[in-house]
Amino acid sequence: MYDALRKQDPEIAALVDGEQERQRTVIRLIASENYASRAVQEASSTPLSNKYSEGYPGKRYYEGQQYIDQVEQLAIDRLKALFGAEHANVQPYSGSPANMAVYFGLIEPGAPVMGLGLPHGGHLTHGWGVNFSGKLYQSHQYPVDKVTERIDYDEVRRIAHEVKPKLIFAGTTAYPRFVDWAFFREVADEVGAYLACDIAHISGLVAAGLHPSPVPYADVVTSTTHKTLRGPRGGMILCRAALAPAIDRAVFPGLQGGPHNATTAAIAVAAKEATLPSFASYARRVIDNAAALSEALTSHGFRMVTGGTDNHLLVVDVTGKGVSGKVAAKALDKAGIVCNFNSIPFDPRKPFDPSGIRIGSPAISSRGVPPSEMPRLAAWIDRVVTSHDNDAALAHIKAEVREFITAFPAPGIDAD
Ligand SMILES: *Cc1c(COP(=O)(O)O)cnc(C)c1O
Repeated sequence: MYDALRKQDPEIAALVDGEQERQRTVIRLIASENYASRAVQEASSTPLSNKYSEGYPGKRYYEGQQYIDQVEQLAIDRLKALFGAEHANVQPYSGSPANMAVYFGLIEPGAPVMGLGLPHGGHLTHGWGVNFSGKLYQSHQYPVDKVTERIDYDEVRRIAHEVKPKLIFAGTTAYPRFVDWAFFREVADEVGAYLACDIAHISGLVAAGLHPSPVPYADVVTSTTHKTLRGPRGGMILCRAALAPAIDRAVFPGLQGGPHNATTAAIAVAAKEATLPSFASYARRVIDNAAALSEALTSHGFRMVTGGTDNHLLVVDVTGKGVSGKVAAKALDKAGIVCNFNSIPFDPRKPFDPSGIRIGSPAISSRGVPPSEMPRLAAWIDRVVTSHDNDAALAHIKAEVREFITAFPAPGIDAD
């Protein structure tokens, strides 16, 4: 692979090789990451990206759309079928622009909006202060419950009746439990708000029927295409037919110019792959691995936020082990186990050195690592945290990790 690149620009080629080798030889537990298939990668790097196609299939501002129109229509039709949606827009450049298009399409700047607070598992684009969503709108953040650490649904209803939001965002980025979409629909109806459900993390699980779908409840559903869905780096918006004109206008010409057509093709490929039996067993493994890892880590004395998981991720409070989340994450990285430090709800520690780590099972599940191996992973994590300041011990674990994980071929990655 990459013969031309290697010849033309050895410097970049070497870095690509390095990153590929890293992805091949470490245990990747970052909950938002995955391995896209070779077919998805190939579609992403086609000459389709040479083409400009502002507009939508059949209504373009440039000629020469004989093939691009068909590509985009296939992506749209496959996503509509996969999620049972009335309309799909596949042009958002990523998850955040998809959410921005929802705000721009449905409400006016300055309107009251609601979303789950970032420190409680919500996303930046759900109204966090430093983000456009917190700057351009009157943002009200709802919390999780202090005891259960699950979304505080009573508080959601109370705040909604108090602030009368025009738009409510439901959906999470670091939350290990199912979200009760029907409840959010009820509250949105009570106060006359639009309901946007953001399934960026869980869209692969929703596609496989392993997380309840928000499509029957939401006005709009947004997602990335590169997390559990295992497509290219991209975004998508599903919505009711009645909202399609507003959403499409918000994406183009409201927010973006030409769509990234190679990415669109790769989204179509991922949507097709998501209907295959192999995707169903991958998604099942994602859930089973997260549950098994939660149990195994708990038996090593780690505390799981909310006590466990329903989905693909765990938020682990590591302070009981005498380390912060950052110390744990840095030591794990040295040992070839890659995750991110993460705040826990009501974290007494600062966001840049919080109490927790976030761990996800999608990438290892794509490699076919089975639940029976999760006790081994948990034991490594425990050893790393215990010997976090012992570089020799961490290097030793890294070698063990490498030997273990390279036995599971990574989709889309060259074996050396
Ligand atoms: C990852 C994520 C996004 C943003 O996706 P980007 O592609 O990084 O812009 C939006 N919402 C949620 C809930 C996410 O987890």
